[in-house]
Amino acid sequence: MDADEFRKRGREMIDYVADYLENIRDRRPLPSVQPGFMKELLPDHAPENPEKWEDVFKDIERVIMPGVTHWHNPQFHAYFPTSNSYPGILADILSDAIGCIGFSWASSPSCTELEVIVMDWLGKLLDLPKEFLFCSGGRGGGVIQGTASEATLVALLSARSHVLHRLKEKDPNLNEAHVMSRLVAYCSDQSHSSVERAGLIGAVQMKKIETDEKSSLRGSSLRDMIESDQAKGLIPFFRNQAYSRVNNKALCYSIKLGEQNNIWMHIDAAYAGSAFICPEFRPLLNGYAMSFNFNPHKWMLVNFDCSAMVKDSKLVSEAFTVDPLYLQHENQGKMPDYRHWHIPLGRRFRSLKVWFVLRLYGLKGLQEYIRKDVRLAHEFENFVKDDNRFEIFGEVILGLIEAINDDGRIHLVPSKVKDTYFLRFAICASRTNSDDVKFAWENYKFVHLILCICKQYKNTL
Ligand SMILES: *Cc1c(COP(=O)(O)O)cnc(C)c1O
Repeated sequence: MDADEFRKRGREMIDYVADYLENIRDRRPLPSVQPGFMKELLPDHAPENPEKWEDVFKDIERVIMPGVTHWHNPQFHAYFPTSNSYPGILADILSDAIGCIGFSWASSPSCTELEVIVMDWLGKLLDLPKEFLFCSGGRGGGVIQGTASEATLVALLSARSHVLHRLKEKDPNLNEAHVMSRLVAYCSDQSHSSVERAGLIGAVQMKKIETDEKSSLRGSSLRDMIESDQAKGLIPFFRNQAYSRVNNKALCYSIKLGEQNNIWMHIDAAYAGSAFICPEFRPLLNGYAMSFNFNPHKWMLVNFDCSAMVKDSKLVSEAFTVDPLYLQHENQGKMPDYRHWHIPLGRRFRSLKVWFVLRLYGLKGLQEYIRKDVRLAHEFENFVKDDNRFEIFGEVILGLIEAINDDGRIHLVPSKVKDTYFLRFAICASRTNSDDVKFAWENYKFVHLILCICKQYKNTL
């Protein structure tokens, strides 16, 4: 493909993408294909001779689209939202064209410098304390990780390296393997599965603390567990705190960068964090934290992948520093070399999409977007509250989900808190509006009533 053809095909592709997104309501959110469907549609080997663009382009509708779950259909209410916006898509095109690998400042200075700037912008939008940001001139600073799972893992590995370092200073003959086997990290029993995985990958015990009836972690439960672990000779060193709810009260937070009782607290606000750009949705965050992350790729119109993490950058980079000669450069130390801040060496120019989105929506546009989604979620909540026939039958919930998803007009997934199964209704797509929420409720209620009737019928047998 030469440049002239690229220009022509590029225009066609942009048209296709705009048509796809503008008409996405016409496609079912959930595809009806069976596993292995694609094998029937494609040859079992790559072509020997080059094919024509027209033939590849035609296969988007024939081969790909039948098996796509349309996350941006307004009736997609499953899992959690993933962001998508035209400015984000345009930035990714530019990032792909530049195609740099920004592992150090020298490997592409703009890639690093724009990231430094937009990470401070994001921190200020969320009103995070300055200490967490580059502009403090201190230990803070931000980095774009691919996902929240990586942010949690990086936090845990940094905390692990930090505690080993501290203990080694006290006792230079320390047996590292012995210390590693006694390290213990904590999260709540409601924590995201990525936290348990961070413990598995980081090879440390991850203890789940039981939450109260409001699914909140009580400070006293954590304290009791820490004290009893210390008495057994274990070494508590890390705790993960998730913020997954949007409060509806004007609250402000006052977190400080630092450790408390030698425990590194990592705050995971992957989903809810974007809402903190609205002062009225900020949670009550007090005390000390060493790292904080949220996903602009969930709820801030920045396309996947983009998880923003701010932290004690010195301790994080110390944990990951391996510095072979060929990666070094003469300006080292003046700007971050982001390869020390995350797991891979290579990194894409992801800050471009944050920059485009922040500039083209502005704080006001993004706040409006978040507030609209919160309003829609409350509309749905009111439908549920106003219907006194509504109750949840744990035993039939999976059948209910199957019925809703087989019907295909909306897409939901179930979840479980303690022993209660429930249906999760998430406002995901940027195009979802009030009518979609009403439609989902009517659809959902309808299936639910059939199942209630079935259940009552079964009970009378
Ligand atoms: C969605 C979510 C994650 C996982 O996000 P990834 O970026 O896909 O790793 C982790 N924690 C919380 C609280 C989440 O909501």
